[in-house]
Amino acid sequence: MALGATVLAAAGAGSRKVDHLYVHIPFCLRKCPYCAFYSVPFSADLVDRYVEMLVKEVEIVAPELAPKTVYFGGGTPSLLSEKHFEKLAEVFQRTGWADIGEWTVEANPATLTLDKARFLRRLGVNRVSLGVQSLDDAVLKRLGRVHTRADALRSFDILRAAGFTNINIDLMFAVPGQTLSAWEKVLEEALALGSEHLSAYELNYEEDTPFFEQFSAGLFESEEDLACEMYELLLRATAAQGLVQYEVSNFARDTHDGTAAPPAFACRHNISYWRGCWYYGLGPSAASYVDGVRYANFADLSRYCRALANGHRPIVSAERLSPLARAGETAAFGLRMSVGWSFEEFRRVTGFDLRDEWAEEIEDFVEQGYAEITSNRFKLTPRGMLFADLVGERFLRPDS
Ligand code: SF4
Repeated sequence: MALGATVLAAAGAGSRKVDHLYVHIPFCLRKCPYCAFYSVPFSADLVDRYVEMLVKEVEIVAPELAPKTVYFGGGTPSLLSEKHFEKLAEVFQRTGWADIGEWTVEANPATLTLDKARFLRRLGVNRVSLGVQSLDDAVLKRLGRVHTRADALRSFDILRAAGFTNINIDLMFAVPGQTLSAWEKVLEEALALGSEHLSAYELNYEEDTPFFEQFSAGLFESEEDLACEMYELLLRATAAQGLVQYEVSNFARDTHDGTAAPPAFACRHNISYWRGCWYYGLGPSAASYVDGVRYANFADLSRYCRALANGHRPIVSAERLSPLARAGETAAFGLRMSVGWSFEEFRRVTGFDLRDEWAEEIEDFVEQGYAEITSNRFKLTPRGMLFADLVGERFLRPDS
């Protein structure tokens, strides 16, 4: 159900403040052939104009926000200069956001210098997600990345030298041509760096990307068995290094005590998505979810800037899902986490009982060994984690 301008105007956060803020920085040095995120080629002039408009967007939503987590994603946030970061930090300060516990910036290893890293740390950024993707130059070349293995290793050292004690390393596997032993070597080396967090994603062929075209033309084959072996290797290797899996693709350090709490270095911002929390997303193509309404910003930098220059929020669509459809999405997202859902928490968050509305799905998945019920909690088994997307789909309910 798409909503008109009146609903847009009415659908603020009311008196409850929103705890999570995502900021999209839509610039890249070069487009990677597998990437479907919205981004445009980097140009210093464009970034100047963009940051000016982004400040306006922050000011519009500021009264409804008191962020506990901030996440700068992209695109390539580390392409912003110190001057740009300073402008954004200034507006954060002006709006009185004093309680940001976790501020993550994604960084491309080709764009980090010690000066910039130190500057970010001084500014209050306390978590960096480093887009390493691989430590194998052949794989990096295949992925069309602008950085090399040496850049990635150097960037990690730079972040440590700048004082970062919470670093994520992003990796990709099931890249065309990648063998199991090559993946094992990358994993070993990446884990030896000792980051607090690791994310590892299977390469997917996203529509409207050169990789998708090449895949459709039969230039690559989908090797699902190999991808499963790579994932299983990932689970073994991370566990052996003391990283705790808390989501399908995410692992973090912890003094894990077997409770349902996420590990100490889990990304609190991303957990907010999986737990159905409200968040604002700013920048072109960014999505927000506030007060039961899902918004999308223009995925077009010019339209985004024009709207803000005219004093409007740059929203292209707003959709209020029915409570059941919303609960279905929340169920599907939350099941991606290792702890799944406690029945009580799910009821508190959504108002629905997982055991009533999804009784059939729960029974099926438990019977097939994809899920289990322990201590009033429904969660996926390691086998179910392999197929979390497919399991999640069964929990979705049509909007009415
Ligand atoms: S993968 Fe990252 S660096 Fe590459 S085009 Fe996409 S957003 Fe830019």
